[in-house]
Amino acid sequence: MSAVVVLIEIEHDGDASRVSLVSREALTFARGLGDPVYALVLGPTSPGVVEDCREQGVAAIFECPDEELSAYSGAAWAVALGAVVDAAGDVAAVVAGGTAHGNEVLAHLAARRDLPMAANVVGLVGSEPFEVERQVVGGSAIERTLLAGGTPVVSVAGHAVDPEPAPTPGGAAVLPFSAPIEEKDLRARVVRSQTRDGGDTSGLTSARIIVGAGRGAGGPDGFESVDALAARLGGAVGVSRVVTSLGWRPHHEQVGQTGSRVSPDVYIACGISGSIQHWAGMSSSKTIIAVNTDAEAPMVTKANYAVVGDMHEVLPAVLEQLGPR
Ligand SMILES: Cc1cc2nc3c(=O)[nH]c(=O)nc-3n(C[C@H](O)[C@H](O)[C@H](O)COP(=O)(O)OP(=O)(O)OC[C@H]3O[C@@H](n4cnc5c(N)ncnc54)[C@H](O)[C@@H]3O)c2cc1C
Repeated sequence: MSAVVVLIEIEHDGDASRVSLVSREALTFARGLGDPVYALVLGPTSPGVVEDCREQGVAAIFECPDEELSAYSGAAWAVALGAVVDAAGDVAAVVAGGTAHGNEVLAHLAARRDLPMAANVVGLVGSEPFEVERQVVGGSAIERTLLAGGTPVVSVAGHAVDPEPAPTPGGAAVLPFSAPIEEKDLRARVVRSQTRDGGDTSGLTSARIIVGAGRGAGGPDGFESVDALAARLGGAVGVSRVVTSLGWRPHHEQVGQTGSRVSPDVYIACGISGSIQHWAGMSSSKTIIAVNTDAEAPMVTKANYAVVGDMHEVLPAVLEQLGPR
């Protein structure tokens, strides 16, 4: 079989660094496309990253430790990725997680090499011809895309795939190499990044369970049981735009077209009507549960499960049933 090359994004937790969740999902997806799987890591590779790659069945890690590449640059990272593709020889596909960076790097690579690309893929339909399903319109529709005329380049939508360990761990041999970066490739590069106070949405976008709340919360004091349920389930709180516009909760918790796009395993929408703009941000959730007083609310009619009732009665009752952790 032909090789698959995967761009890896790293998550830093204090001094430790690991392969990010979306990259582990991309690696799991990549294993279904070809063998061996090669990973590209920009910047120095840590033991945690090697361990995660081994668990995901990666045969070799191309490590590009150049200092200038450890900060993000879409064009330069694409040059490094192209160099790995050349080194890998016969390549069935090039893959990355469907993050802003992953999509941008793949777009650079596809444009430079005239390769067919699909972003936010959720599944493989067939490899000959190479056809995928991908999320469009903020996840509210699925499109089938045929990629022909060159090595397919695909990004994998967040949480579309469970990051399963490989049946057999990979060798994960670290192969240092130097990418042929030129000054012009670094014309756009990150020189400084700073997380806004309270602006970190990573907890929301990576959460497996989200308890969503809308105008039905009734006011800034109406979130006690929403917060408690999210904490009890080990999840995060997401809210509608009405809630942030009224100043009941901060903007970084907003889900939707102008907020975060989320794909948790379970989204519990409490007092949220289900406007198209909110739906665009959470419709790719695996299971949607609505809690709403209106049996005709779009969120109720579209959800997998619904409880028609007052969230201020339903959530405390659920918490009581669950008991302390
Ligand atoms: C350009 C644009 C971008 C937008 N982007 C976003 C976005 O990113 N995210 C977003 O969310 N919206 C967005 N909106 C706003 C969107 O159109 C809706 O106005 C908004 O989502 C409605 O929020 P809501 O469901 O909380 O409120 P409402 O539509 O007022 O619904 C409240 C719901 O709560 C129910 N309810 C009331 N009391 C209770 C109770 N005690 N218990 C249980 N249920 C109760 C009601 O039956 C109702 O269904 C955008 C709009 C525009 C024009």
